[in-house]
This record gives sequence, structure tokens and C-alpha cells, in this order.
Amino acid sequence: MSQAISRLLALFEGTHHHQDMSQLAALYEEIEGETTRFKGEFSIACPPGCGTCCEHFNPDITALEASLVAAYLLLEESKRPLLERLYREGVDEGPCPLYDKENPCHCTVYEVRPLICRLFGAAASLTKSGEAVFRQCKYNTEGTMPALLTFDKPVATLQSYSYALRSLDGRGVDLLSSQVRMMAEQLQFLISLLGSGDDDNPLAS
Ligand code: SF4
Repeated sequence: MSQAISRLLALFEGTHHHQDMSQLAALYEEIEGETTRFKGEFSIACPPGCGTCCEHFNPDITALEASLVAAYLLLEESKRPLLERLYREGVDEGPCPLYDKENPCHCTVYEVRPLICRLFGAAASLTKSGEAVFRQCKYNTEGTMPALLTFDKPVATLQSYSYALRSLDGRGVDLLSSQVRMMAEQLQFLISLLGSGDDDNPLAS
């Protein structure tokens, strides 16, 4: 589990957000293990420094995923300008509003990035006929991953993880920019309650 997620879970201890975020964190951890294994087994890698997919993509995410991103933006001091920019500019068209071309890591919320960002170019997906395949990312022109893979044994797919994600949260999906703004507004109220009257609470201002 990333250090940022551990910190956020500790801060929300005792709230219903803690249980929901813990389940999401466990799913992300499972995906981290599976995608690492999958990429290693099939020699799949992105070219160093590549972030082209994020330049063309404002992902659809669930409200639960957005709550983790929003909590990160609200509670990590250095990230507050990103949230202010989301409020100010809206940014519903690609590139992803959390993508930073100048940053070598590119993703400004990497530790809490949503599920699709963890799986894109790193997992198999199901075709319309239900066959698991892996296809090279269309932005990869450097041949750092196989063009096409099929499998003779069951593999985890983008769809299977999407179902697992949706089973944690029945509120549907929306664009990252809209979802994160909405969840930040909801969390701000909770944070103000958690931070009041307790000098030992790290959320206290
Ligand atoms: S959240 Fe991060 S990884 Fe996901 S699309 Fe945006 S910049 Fe890319």
C-alpha cells in the first residue's frame, strides 16, 4: 500500500469513509501485484517517461475512487493548487487535468491514481466474444510491449477488475474532473468536523 494511502486511511479512521477507502486500497494493492506479475511474465513495459495516454484521456472514475483522490488533494498541502485548478477551470476535456507534462512522473496523484490508470497497458481485456487478449497501447511506437497476446489459461482482465470496483460502489461513474470536485466538497465538510476540538487530530488546522 502506498504511504499516501496509509496516511489517508489513518486520518479517516473511525468514519465510514475509512472502511470504503480500505476496501478500495485492498483492490488497488491486489492490482499492483497482478499487473507487476503480468508485465514481468509477458515483457510488457511503457517507454521511459511516456505519459501519452494521459494526454488523450480524462478518465471516468467512481465516486469512491474520486473520494480518495479528493482526500489526497485536500490533505496533502503541496497538492492543494491542483484542486483549486480543478474548481477554477472545470477541465472536462482531455488531457487528464491531473497530468503534468513537466513532471517526470507525469501523474500528480500517482499514489492514489484510479483503477483504469493502473490497468491501462498493463492488463488483458475481454473481446466482444469473451476472449482475453492483450493489445499494445496504440500510443506505444517504440515496441516496448508485444503487439498482441492471447492466453491459454485464465487471466485477470480490465473488465474483471472493473466489476470488482463497481461492487464496492453503486453510485456510477463520471469524469474524473467532475467526480473529484463533487467529492472534495463532501469531504471538506467532514474534515472540518474531524478537525474541530481535537488538538491531537492531524486534520485540525
Ligand atoms: S489520474 Fe494520473 S494516471 Fe490517471 S489519467 Fe490522470 S494523469 Fe494519467
